[in-house]
Amino acid sequence: MNRKLLDLASRTLGDTFAHESAPLSAEDKLRELAFNLWWNWHPQVLELFRQLDPAGWSETNHNPIALLKRIGPGALGARVAELSLENTVSFHYRRLQEYLRAEGSWCAVNARGLQAAPIAYFSAEFGLHESLPLYSGGLGVLAGDHLKSASDLGLPLVGIGLFYASGYFRQHFDAAGWQTEEYGHIDLGALPLRRPVGADGEPVMIELPCNGETLHAAVWMARVGRTLLLLLDSDVEANPPYLRELTARLYGGDEVTRIRQEALLGIGGLRALRELGIRPAVLHLNEGHSAFVVLERTRERIEEEGMSFDDALRETALQTVFTTHTPVEAGHDRFAAELVERELGWLRAALGIDPERMMGLGRVDPADRGEPLCMTVLAIRGSRRRNGVSSLHGHVARRMWQRVWPGRDEEEVPIGHITNGVHVRSWLALSMNRIFDRYLGNDWPARQSDCATWAPIAGADDAELWETHEVLRRYLVEFVRRRAGRPQLLDEHALTLGFARRFATYKRGTILLTDLDRLAQILGDPARPVQIVFAGKAHPRDDAGKKLLQQLLAITRDPRFEGKIVFVEDYDINVARHMVQGVDVWINTPLRPMEACGTSGQKVVLNGGLNLSVLDGWWAEGFDGKNGFAIGDGRVHTDPAVQWARDAESLYGQIEEQVLPLFYDREGTAPPRGWVERMKRSITTLAWRYNADRMVADYVRHAYLAAGGRLTSA
Ligand SMILES: *Cc1c(COP(=O)(O)O)cnc(C)c1O
Repeated sequence: MNRKLLDLASRTLGDTFAHESAPLSAEDKLRELAFNLWWNWHPQVLELFRQLDPAGWSETNHNPIALLKRIGPGALGARVAELSLENTVSFHYRRLQEYLRAEGSWCAVNARGLQAAPIAYFSAEFGLHESLPLYSGGLGVLAGDHLKSASDLGLPLVGIGLFYASGYFRQHFDAAGWQTEEYGHIDLGALPLRRPVGADGEPVMIELPCNGETLHAAVWMARVGRTLLLLLDSDVEANPPYLRELTARLYGGDEVTRIRQEALLGIGGLRALRELGIRPAVLHLNEGHSAFVVLERTRERIEEEGMSFDDALRETALQTVFTTHTPVEAGHDRFAAELVERELGWLRAALGIDPERMMGLGRVDPADRGEPLCMTVLAIRGSRRRNGVSSLHGHVARRMWQRVWPGRDEEEVPIGHITNGVHVRSWLALSMNRIFDRYLGNDWPARQSDCATWAPIAGADDAELWETHEVLRRYLVEFVRRRAGRPQLLDEHALTLGFARRFATYKRGTILLTDLDRLAQILGDPARPVQIVFAGKAHPRDDAGKKLLQQLLAITRDPRFEGKIVFVEDYDINVARHMVQGVDVWINTPLRPMEACGTSGQKVVLNGGLNLSVLDGWWAEGFDGKNGFAIGDGRVHTDPAVQWARDAESLYGQIEEQVLPLFYDREGTAPPRGWVERMKRSITTLAWRYNADRMVADYVRHAYLAAGGRLTSA
């Protein structure tokens, strides 16, 4: 099947360089390398692009396509020759070809039943690289990592999302420290995206009814290793101006925009697959935004197979997998009956059901006429395999949605869990990668989900590990200084704490500021210097989150903390990469159990940092007492203010009594033994489990194989 997807991509993208018979120029090879996001997790390929134009590299936001565009087609060949890079270009081009065509992948061996037709993976966000700002946070980055691991494992998978021409916002602050949002315009000519063409030779377009008119959307295709990503874009001439704007922004606009975006994602997404001749075996809904796909697939079945609505819905549900991602109420879209009927009455009519039946699909209590349609409930009712994203979140989700199955006990609610993981090589520093190559063997990436793979790290040379980590900390310090334009910030030898995530209130990003005198004492000891790097965006309409940011920014200007507490603006994948690679300790302070999983701390593990976290999400199952540090003991007080005070006390206590003494326990110039031991324990006990290869393999074993077995046609 992977071969089929590759051929489909070559054919529909009209690859001129896909013909192996003709000799390819270095320029062709570079173009092909640039147009597959495979470079994203192959640092040597990125290094090649950087070498072509070192000055342009950071200006183009580390984006090979933009770099090639900047150099210009005429000058590229000469540049390669001048730098004697022909062999390097050919080497990486061959590696890509070998990767794409490799036989005997994990899936070919372990999931033969999934080779016939792909998984269609729907997500409102995809976070693949900083140059493609189609994500706001963890959900999107997870989706990007899912694609990359599916590619590495040889799982045939097509991602489906929306192309937001203005992306997510860039963060700025006004003089009062209040976050402001700037929406730019993504330069399409500088992205690894192309328009696939259909059988008629024309670029594929899809359409669906909307507001009494026809909503048209273009389809963009990106290649992510062996997988494909399709992005729908309403900014086409055939649409009236207000519909051209529909996909302009991620999570922008009101509920009308949202329901239309979600209709485009789910319904339009399936239509795009159909236009391309792709009949997915499995529909995977990454969060409820795309749940309308279930109704569109049901409609197809009624139309094509003459089924009744009930039979068609049941068949569709059997092939559908739903992953829920958050206990936070605002994370679950709800639409009123009038809005649903106005926007999707056409679909309801095609399904042959009345408005009450339609609404009932998305109501906890179908008979409750006052209840809006909740996309999560629709996704639950429209799927047979459902999961939360950590063991604890599985429990929370079962409790949260228990009422959808009246009469069932909480433990019997059919929602399981598959804990999230991160795509290792996208987050791993090159120097750590080298250490792993040496101690684990070059083929460790293919064995990363095996606990035994990581055991040799326990015997790694302490000094080597420590020195590598110290260099990574220095890179982070230099990055922060460069970004802020203030070379006097931070100390490259100080214990460096990091906190970077969305500034949603439940994440409690200001908990470290609870007792400023105590914090000043911790940060004020010249014998044991400590510093903190913060980053994060608040949702544009989350004033409470913006208040936290304002408070934090004020503290960075307090003379007691100046230069020691810094805030890096405009958190994105690039900022995240530097931070997770360079910190000593990663702080995570959600109000338990609101953090369904959390993945940034998993990225830290790989790079030798330690987690200091509330026992929530993945940490509640990953912490073993010695592989990092815990805030609190897992108990929750019903009053959030009391919980805040307790967790703040525990956080300060952990830093003062555990973190600092261990980090600064040095004999002469030797590395801190106890600390390095903990780094090793963190890697050996956590890396094998909290990676996206293990996650995708779990989806294959626990969801895709069962759902894909229902396939009727390939
Ligand atoms: C990994 C990542 C996240 C998710 O982090 P959490 O721990 O879930 O908050 C969010 N944003 C970016 C840019 C990331 O890289």
